[in-house]
Amino acid sequence: MIDAPSPNHDDRGGHPVDILLMHYTGMQSGPEALARLRDRDAKVSAHYVVEEDGRIFHLVPEERRAWHAGVSTWQGANNINQRSIGIEIVNPGHEFGYRPFPAVQMQAVKELSLGIIARHAIPASRVIGHSDVAPKRKEDPGEFFDWQGLATAGVGVWPRAKAPDWSDGAFFTHLERYGYDIGDEAAAARAFCRHFRPTHIADVPDAEMMALLNGLLIGDI
Ligand SMILES: [Zn+2]
Repeated sequence: MIDAPSPNHDDRGGHPVDILLMHYTGMQSGPEALARLRDRDAKVSAHYVVEEDGRIFHLVPEERRAWHAGVSTWQGANNINQRSIGIEIVNPGHEFGYRPFPAVQMQAVKELSLGIIARHAIPASRVIGHSDVAPKRKEDPGEFFDWQGLATAGVGVWPRAKAPDWSDGAFFTHLERYGYDIGDEAAAARAFCRHFRPTHIADVPDAEMMALLNGLLIGDI
């Protein structure tokens, strides 16, 4: 763990931490992203940055509110920064050449996350990505992020498909029940796929997406 303090944080207003939010940096290089997240004028930050070689930088103390989520919603809550820990994972992202996350980087994310989850008793269904809480604006950490591998290690959830007893017309009602803002249905469907069905990002629900969502709802609620 490398200390790299950022000035960009404030008080949580007493709110406990109950979300772990994953991002990619979406910039050309790790050092460039780190500099921006530590720049007072940029007014953005995260608690941690994980480099592609597995080094972990600590920017903001966990008890403070870092500024990473922006306008976002999950399970009806809006002030995601107030209640979350944010991890920025170095990757150029969809704008600058999105590429797979190296195994050594994912190993570091896993170990860091296990500690955070234990310290704050974060429920598995609340280990999520930026695109999950802001489907209209964000695509990170994206379809290359190994959510399945993390879930196997105890970080977040991975669904077992189970055909639902509801029809495709009820998909978005159930997607909202799981936590997504469905204000833009196609964007919400894409965000669901980036997390839970990364092999095919679709705007419209299909049988596999329905079965995966049903699996999540049955497993979690
Ligand atoms: Zn992000």
